[in-house]
Amino acid sequence: MNNLIVSKFGGYSVATAENIKKAAEIIKSNTARRYIVVSAPGRRSRDDIKVTDMLFMAHAMFSNKEKSYEDLLKKVAVRYQEIIDGLGINFDIEAEAADSMKSLVLGKNADYIVSRGEYVIAKIFAEYLGWPFVDAADLIFLKSNGTLDEEKTFTEAAEVLSKYEHAVIPGFYGSIGGMNIKLFPRGGADITGAILARALNADFLEKWSETSQIFSADPSIVENPEIIRNITYQELRELTYMGINVIDEDVIFLLQHVGIPLFIKNIHYPDDVGTFVSEELPEGTKREVAACIAGLRHYKAVKIEKFGLNKAHGIGEKVWGIFARRNIPCEHYISGIYNFSIILKNPMFDLKRNEIFEEIRNAINPENISVESELSLIAVIGKGMGTVKGLFARAFNAIAGVDVKVRMINQGSDDLNIIIGVDDKDFEKTVKALYNAMILS
Ligand code: ASP
Repeated sequence: MNNLIVSKFGGYSVATAENIKKAAEIIKSNTARRYIVVSAPGRRSRDDIKVTDMLFMAHAMFSNKEKSYEDLLKKVAVRYQEIIDGLGINFDIEAEAADSMKSLVLGKNADYIVSRGEYVIAKIFAEYLGWPFVDAADLIFLKSNGTLDEEKTFTEAAEVLSKYEHAVIPGFYGSIGGMNIKLFPRGGADITGAILARALNADFLEKWSETSQIFSADPSIVENPEIIRNITYQELRELTYMGINVIDEDVIFLLQHVGIPLFIKNIHYPDDVGTFVSEELPEGTKREVAACIAGLRHYKAVKIEKFGLNKAHGIGEKVWGIFARRNIPCEHYISGIYNFSIILKNPMFDLKRNEIFEEIRNAINPENISVESELSLIAVIGKGMGTVKGLFARAFNAIAGVDVKVRMINQGSDDLNIIIGVDDKDFEKTVKALYNAMILS
């Protein structure tokens, strides 16, 4: 252990002076929390607008020669002023606002203008903590195609930050050649946290927000589902695929293989353990069978029947290519002896369906092609689940018990999930049944 934690506080955690005070208390309660990454102030209430969105809008208005961009920038300045007053610090927001205004007029691009959201709040936060501010533009370097220059970033970020015992760093952007600001995708302050955790070889990255809970099933379907306390990066990826967006894939990619864990924590309950994400489950982690049940509706299965398929060569390659050329991902593949099904979700498929079928007919001359719709896919996710005896019996008895017909099964080769296809109308029933059989202890 290096006794070094990178803590990332999201938009909610810096949306008000009150939340910033809470965040500061959390930071000061553990001396290992030395490098703090912040997002721009987020929503204070449901109908509020994030500073990032306001800045995107202001830039768009300016580009469209709409004068109202000035009012919008003023509103952003007022938000910061409220935070500054609430924190009781001295900070010249007028000067920062004037600077942003000038940058707009000078033709700075949207990335630069929007990045000021995190830049200014990081400076304010640093002032409140009495810690140095270090600009992400001097730590995180991107290539001209926008990808991370890993070598330069990891060495230079480590070198620069080694000069600071503590620092506050704005999230969400890096620079190309130390000059031009380039934003990460939305929600990208987590990526900044992961890059710095990696550069500093941190003990772990913390992600602080208003939610610390990843549920083992959708709470709108299952009443009071269990909270996942420990989950592996691989499992989290499967969850992300099933539409539960806890963390960006890039963050997982940066941390997983170097073994840096991630803690998901709630600023309102700092003592709650939250969810711990790691490459391997900590010893002693108890699970009934799986970690969670997650699913998505509205898939389609394209079924292709061809006699002699079992002996034919290159059929898959031909058919895949037809979808790939149209940028339609084939999400799952299920094979029989004389038929196979491609499971997909992309709306482009409906538009291009006739020409795709025509091309498949010309390419492999099948006996039949058909499409089945209203298919839901439900994943039972849990690393090492394959070693559980009677796993399938347990799942399918539960499904049969609620009178649901299984339309497909797919067990990944990585022992991480079983994917079960049912009719859309049976989605909720099946999720509940699987939850009771596989998660509840
Ligand atoms: N402020 C940016 C956004 O709203 C980045 C972030 O919050 O992570 O997307």
